[in-house]
Amino acid sequence: MAKTIHPTVGHHFGDFLMCKQKAWMHYHGDPRKKMPPPINLRVMQAEGQRLETAIYKSRYEGAYKVPGIATDRRLRLEKTKEAMQRGEPAILQGYVETPLGNGTPDVMELVGLDPGSSVGHAYRVGEIKRSQTLMTAHIMQVSWYTELLEQTYNQKVTEGFFLLGTRNTQPHTENLQDHVADYKILKSALFELRDTTAAPGAHLIPACTSCDWRGVCMPNLIDTHHISLLPTLTPNHVASLHSLGHNNWQDIKQTSDPTLLEIGLSPFDIEMLRDNLKRLHNGLPPLKHQFRKDLLAESVAVSMNFPNISTARKDKKDLRPTSIYWYAGVEPHTIKILYSANAPPQINSDELLSKSLLVFFGGTDISAFTTILKHSHHNTRPKLFDIFQFIDQNVHAPIPGLELRNIIQYINKQDIDQTGQQRAWAINQVISWISASLLCSQTS
Ligand code: SF4
Repeated sequence: MAKTIHPTVGHHFGDFLMCKQKAWMHYHGDPRKKMPPPINLRVMQAEGQRLETAIYKSRYEGAYKVPGIATDRRLRLEKTKEAMQRGEPAILQGYVETPLGNGTPDVMELVGLDPGSSVGHAYRVGEIKRSQTLMTAHIMQVSWYTELLEQTYNQKVTEGFFLLGTRNTQPHTENLQDHVADYKILKSALFELRDTTAAPGAHLIPACTSCDWRGVCMPNLIDTHHISLLPTLTPNHVASLHSLGHNNWQDIKQTSDPTLLEIGLSPFDIEMLRDNLKRLHNGLPPLKHQFRKDLLAESVAVSMNFPNISTARKDKKDLRPTSIYWYAGVEPHTIKILYSANAPPQINSDELLSKSLLVFFGGTDISAFTTILKHSHHNTRPKLFDIFQFIDQNVHAPIPGLELRNIIQYINKQDIDQTGQQRAWAINQVISWISASLLCSQTS
């Protein structure tokens, strides 16, 4: 049976610019192998959704909205066409399709009558983007929708517009003719990729941790000892190394310093590269920067239980942690948080508060702990360290996501639940993992 190649859609253009493997997977990949969006992406998607709803309300109140993606595509096509024939001033979530692919523009605004158009009117395409700045990918997406409308209805429109996540409520209009050469080159490269049966191959980039296809790519990068797991190497370095026949960590280990200097690495880069090779060979995470070896020395893993987390978020109330769990070495400890009428939450634990460095995972625990700390009467103040942020910014490992359970799954193939107790244990594991990596360095 012939393999299904999925049609080209708007996001293919941005995917191609960011990662060719991603664009290829969206054409050829098995959708059952897609991973669910991680929490950071879900938060961003929800923000995007909120922005879209707010703009639809403020700018397009009463505009015609085409039935959503759950509806049969033929009905969506028909409804869009009828709305264009009627000359609706604005059409939200219109749907257009040609043999090459399809698109669902956020907004189609009436430009005016167009005798050359088969529906009698012409529409310009608008996209709502959470981002503060206009990106090439956005322009390419709008160019694609505009081309689909032109091919389907023979309308001639040369501009598109963008409603960005900035304070400016006015749309940013772009002359698509200024980008037509780039668009043509990108579209032809994209179609060439679509028609290629072999995947271009994964390459570890920051976006991997939230990509749908990380479940397919990450194991592959590890199994093949992929060169992109070395953060010092840019795509240009990688291309030069490939041309010399150096394709994995083992090859790079054999590469001499003069060769590495020749392809553009500095002596400092080479030092970092050698450290990270050592880390990879020892199953430790490569680091993007150099740090003190004792950065996490004498640290304590801390987490909290928030029994009201789901209701508090829903009712917009304060989070009310009830217990703190912490690990010093392998020893677990629990502290009850004290609440009394009209008094802020407090703890009674000189032992925890006399530690020098408390390590948390994520801002929720840190901000709840900061409130407690503010009202504690202990003489010294421990430093608070967010290991989530540290991993996000400095660790270059093929982790299948940035949630604590993803990281622990990667480190020791174990599942954890969301209780404070389990999270404190997991943070302790993560501290050991990062500490071992910090120690695995030639320099101090
Ligand atoms: S996981 Fe990374 S390499 Fe794979 S498709 Fe996604 S972004 Fe590209």
